This record gives sequence, structure tokens and C-alpha cells, in this order.
Amino acid sequence: MVIKDTHSLVTARNILTGLRSIMASSGNAQTKLNQVVETIAEAVGSEVCSIYLLREGVLELYATQGLKQEAVHVTKLAFGQGLIGYIAKNVESLNLAEAASHPDFQYRPETGEDKFHSFAGVPIIRNEQAVGVLCAQHIEPHKYAEEEIESFETAAMVLSELISNTGLIDEDSVDNPDAYNNGTDRLSGLQLVKGKASGFACFHQPRVKIEQTVAEDTEAERHRVYSAFDKMRAQIDHMTNQAEFGGGGEHEEVLQTYKMFAYDEGWSRRINEAIDSGLTAEAAIERVQQHTRMRMRQINDPLLADRMHDLEDLANRLLRIVSGQMGTAATLGLRQDTILVARNLGPAELLEYDRRRLKGVILEEGSLTAHVTIIARAMGIPILGQVKNVRQYVRENDHLLLNVDDNVLFPRPSASMQDAFEAQIELTNKKRAAYAELKDKEPVTLDGTRITLKINAGLRDDMKMLSLTGADGIGLFRTEFQFLVAATMPSRSGQLRFYRDVLHAAGDKPVVFRTVDIGGDKPLPYFQASEVREENPAMGWRALRIGLERDALMKVQARALIEAAAGRVLNVMFPMIAEPWEFDEAKAVFEKQLDYLHARGKQLPLRIRYGAMLEVPALAECLDLMASRLDFLSIGTNDLTQFLFAADRSNPKLAERFDWLSPAILRFIGRVSKEVDELGIELSICGEMGGRPLDAMALLGLGIKRLSITPASIGPVKAMIRSLNLGAAQEQLGSMLRDPPPDPRATLEEWAISHDVDLG
Ligand code: PEP
Ligand code: MG
Repeated sequence: MVIKDTHSLVTARNILTGLRSIMASSGNAQTKLNQVVETIAEAVGSEVCSIYLLREGVLELYATQGLKQEAVHVTKLAFGQGLIGYIAKNVESLNLAEAASHPDFQYRPETGEDKFHSFAGVPIIRNEQAVGVLCAQHIEPHKYAEEEIESFETAAMVLSELISNTGLIDEDSVDNPDAYNNGTDRLSGLQLVKGKASGFACFHQPRVKIEQTVAEDTEAERHRVYSAFDKMRAQIDHMTNQAEFGGGGEHEEVLQTYKMFAYDEGWSRRINEAIDSGLTAEAAIERVQQHTRMRMRQINDPLLADRMHDLEDLANRLLRIVSGQMGTAATLGLRQDTILVARNLGPAELLEYDRRRLKGVILEEGSLTAHVTIIARAMGIPILGQVKNVRQYVRENDHLLLNVDDNVLFPRPSASMQDAFEAQIELTNKKRAAYAELKDKEPVTLDGTRITLKINAGLRDDMKMLSLTGADGIGLFRTEFQFLVAATMPSRSGQLRFYRDVLHAAGDKPVVFRTVDIGGDKPLPYFQASEVREENPAMGWRALRIGLERDALMKVQARALIEAAAGRVLNVMFPMIAEPWEFDEAKAVFEKQLDYLHARGKQLPLRIRYGAMLEVPALAECLDLMASRLDFLSIGTNDLTQFLFAADRSNPKLAERFDWLSPAILRFIGRVSKEVDELGIELSICGEMGGRPLDAMALLGLGIKRLSITPASIGPVKAMIRSLNLGAAQEQLGSMLRDPPPDPRATLEEWAISHDVDLG
């Protein structure tokens, strides 16, 4: 908003002062609206001023100064009909010297408007939707000054508060725009975690509710906005300075844009000017935002729309600071059946949510192997990623049908769609029940090979999945999850208790504890791992690299694990090993703790089995050197894929570019599998690849006999194993490796179908 001269400032202020006293007065809603149109007409010197409000999908003339009073509550326009409908539908202001020249103009004789030539109208907005229109008309054809339009827009903003406080608009039709939506919209995205859910939209960072629009003390409001700007800029600086460990999982580029906007003088000046016109700090921020939104809509440039998103985020951040409404939806408490909507989430942020209420997640970004996805998979929460602009199409509390199995989301569904969806959910439940029945059946192939099927875990709650799935143990326990859910660094005694609980819950089944794998996309808010800013955190100071440098961290964990496993076998696995010496150093940390505890007469584990993750391709070149050192090796296909393809696993643009069934991955794993077999190293797979029946089938075909996968995949993968002739699969994979088909996935799927392999 640009209020350029004192005259227009005075006009805007006069309107707001007038509106404030009307709002404070005791009249009924209709009387107040009549006073509003009078006040505005007088302040801007307009011959006509009218208010149309949206009721049941129709814009009804509610009050007018200058048109015939008989038309009030009689003149009605459909959403999109006439100039009024145009403004509401497009949420766009109009300023016309000659109203009839606009293609959408429609003459309504009952109003007596034929003598008025010029027309200016602005939308009355609530939750980014038009709920009415405020307009002015003049006999003489003349265009209104930009400043006058802006005064109308400011007045419309205050009016939105007035009509909502007086119950003049029905909130239902705003919160639930079914009135003008046929309930068949669909948004598509990328399947990150399978599943279906019906629930209500909840924004991770909720929109701030503006309680008061007209200021009582302009200087105080100015002060509030200044200090909010200072705080916001400090936050953004802090995030940019340690981008790789930023709390919100935001990406570098976003942070840079944030920074640019945060320091944009034009933005803060416009907010300041809006405060000058008499608005509160919150209303001024929102007012400027509304204005920017309108302009962006007119420009209609996808690149700018992206930037608009960033500005929206930032304005919302500023609003949250100024209003003190700081929490994310997790801290504000969730309703039942929540479907969370966010641009992106960090793993720790997701863990803050009450999983009993959280039914699904929709992200504008997101990728298959980002840790937030892995955690959601562990929690059994479906995620649809890469849903472009979802935060524009979906509003808080919208009913959503989320069908990640088919990569779609239906906002505000019709009744018939809901029925169809429920039928689908029933079918899924039946399938799930059938998988549950496999729990006590062995994962044996048709030709008699017993496959070891373990689960990946990391949360206390995951332990129950061992008995629910009938898995052989835990092949990957991501110990960093405990660090991610904590507000401060977990103590040794806290870790000890936790590992003891885990081992106790596992009973006789083995648990492979992976030492903390933090850094990369798993930053700990309370721990700064690297003093330098990293360009490529995934390839930077993470996992074992941190552990070996900050050996206090690793010592504490080693001691806790050794003590917890007293009297039983302890399986320890080190992440991100690239060279043998890293393994040796990590093992030495454990051995030293073992000696220490031994010297103090503590009961020790029967044995420690040491393993490494193969996720850095370099390690594959040193397998012969590792053979005598290792008790076992586990391929982490998530990181391995990112390093083999040089494709950041959390970059949404790369999420679909490379396939796990591509010749490079298959050949790599096939070669490693053969070599470790000859070297006598026990090999398993613990990346997400093993959790998909078709991909798991390919792995078995490459000679893999042990899989550790997400619990929800045990049923489908076991069903696949029990329907597979392993010898035939090995032959098929052998021929695919020698002569890769153009589309390995399609070829393998066809093969599986023609060989009656159950792919779920
Ligand atoms: C992997 O990289 O494949 C893996 C299992 O570890 P994480 O996903 O935790 O990095
Ligand atoms: Mg990894």
C-alpha cells in the first residue's frame, strides 16, 4: 500500500476513525453497515458507496448510500457475475472511469445505477477469500486515484473484521467454500509414504488470527512492528548463518530469498505507511500482504508466484512475532484426524506431533529418502509430497481426502467422493488384515530359501512392531531419533535407560544399534556440529565424522550401549564409513569403554559384533580390507543412491530422477553382494529400497538374503517372498545386469506378474 500524500492519509485515517466508532457503537449489524457506507462516501466524496456480502454463494447488496434503498437485499449477483462478482471471484480491485466499458458489466435497473459512470470496487477479504465487495460510484466518468483505491482496501479490511464480529457472513461458507466448489478438485503429488487418510487440514505454521484492525495508539503499533522486524531479521540471520542446521528444514535458496525480503526497505515502509493510516501492526502487515497478493494475481508469473510464497512465509513469520502467536500447530494442540500441511518439515518437527491425532502429511516439497519421510514411514503416517501450491488451494480446517497410494489429494470432497473413499479404505484395511495374518508365517521362497526379514526402528513405540509383524529382529535402530526428539542432548543415564528398554522389548531378537547419524538433514537444534557453513551438508560434517571428532558424544553412547547390553550380544553399526581407518577408530572408542567398564567390574556384553554401513561408494573398493574387521555389513541404499548418482536425497527436484532399479544401482549391489559372499562377510540391506516388494525382489535376485525394512512393508515383502521362485529371479536379474532393458522397472514388473509374484 502506498499512501503518498497527506491528503490521502487523512482520508484513510478519517475512514478508520469513523469505522472504529461505528464498530464500538451499540447499533445492530444493519445499522452499522448503513453508517459505514455513509462514512466512507463522505470521506472520499463519492456519490455512491455500497456493500455487497456473500451469503450462500451469492453476493447480496447489504447497504448503500446513493443507490435506491429498495434494492437493498433485493439485488443479488452470483459469484463471478457482473463487476461485483468479478471482484469477488478474482479477489481483485477494479477502477473504471466508465463501468459499462468492462466486459463483465451488468446493469441492474432496480438500483438506479444507470446515471453513474465511474466505478471502483475492492474485495472484502477473509482467509484470502472474498466475502464481499465494497464499491463506490460517481456520476462523472473519472478514474479514482490510486490512493483512494488503497483507502477503500484499508476500509474493506476493517469491514471484514466488523462483518465477521457481527455474524454478517456465515463463517462456514468462508471456511468451507463448497458453496462455489463442486467438490471434485484434485491435487496431485509424489508418493512418499503410502496410505490413505480422511481428515482436516491443519497448517504446520498456522495463519495468525487478527483480533483488532484499527489502532488505538499508532506510535505504539509502530514500535511493535519495528521490534518484530528486528526479531525476525535476527532469526533469519541466525538461520542463514547455520543453514545446514536450521530448525525448519528450509533450504538454502529459501533462506537467501527470506533474507532478501526480510531486509527489503520497500516492504517495511509500506507496512509503516499502513500503520500511519490507522491500522494495528497485525492489520498493517496483512493489509500490505493482501495488496501484494492482488498484484501478483494480476501478473500471473509462475516464477513470481514462487517468490510470493516466500514472502507469504515471511509475512506470516512477522505476524506471528508481532502477535506473540509463535507456536507451530504441534504446540497449539491438534484436533482429531488432522492432516498436516507444510512447505517442508524437519524430522524433529514431525516428531513433535501427537501421532494419534495426525493422520497424514502434505508437503509442497519433500523427497522419498529425506529423514522426515523415513520417520513418517516409521510412524505409519502417509505423506504426499511435491503438492505444488497446496497452501493456496487448501485452507485451515478444509476436509481432505488423502490418497497417497494413488498420489492424489481431494480437498473439500463431495459426499459421493467420500463414500467411494470409505470403500477404498475398507479394502486397504482388508489387505492389511491379510498381511497381519502372515505374521507367523516364515519368509521362505517357493524354492526353499529362508530370507531374514528385520525391521528398521528408532522410536520406543516402534518396538511393538517386532511382535506385530513377526520380524526376525531390528536390522537398523536409528539411535539419533532419540536425539532428535529431545530438547537437549540426551544424558548417558537417559540413553542407557532407553537402550535397556529397547533390548528388553526385543527379547531374544537381535537389535543392531547404529551409532548417532546426525548432521545432513538431521540437525540437532541444541548442538552445533560444524563451525563452518556447509555448502553440501549431506556430504559434510555428519554421522561418524562428527562422532569421531566429538568423541565425548560417541564415548557416552558407547558406554550406554555396552552397559545396556550387559549379559547379551551387542550389535553396533557405524554409519558413513568410507575407509577402514574410520571403522578402526570407531571400534576403538567402544573397546576403550569396554576396558573401562571391565576395570570397574561391570557386567559386560557377551560379545560385541561390529558392523559398518555401506553408504559411501568408496567403501565398496575396500571390501577385501574390511573382511577381517567386520562382523557384518549393511547397505544403506538411501545414502548410497545419493552418492552414486550425486543426487541430494532431500532435493525435491531430484526426487524422481533416478530409479533404484537402474542398472547402476543394480550392478553396484550385485557386485558387492558377490564379493562379500566370497569374502564371507554377512550382508544385509537397510535402506528404503528393500521395503518395496518389486525392488526387494530385485535385491533377492542379486543375491541378498537379509533385509531390514520399515515395519509396514514386512507384510507386503513377505507375501512377495513367499510367492517367489528365487532361482528364476536370480536368472532374470543376471540377464538384466548383462543387458539392461530400457525400462528395468517395467520389465521386472512384467516378469513378476507373469511369474505370479505377489507385489501387493
Ligand atoms: C541409508 O542411508 O540408506 C540408511 C538406512 O540410513 P539413513 O536413511 O538413516 O541415512
Ligand atoms: Mg544413511
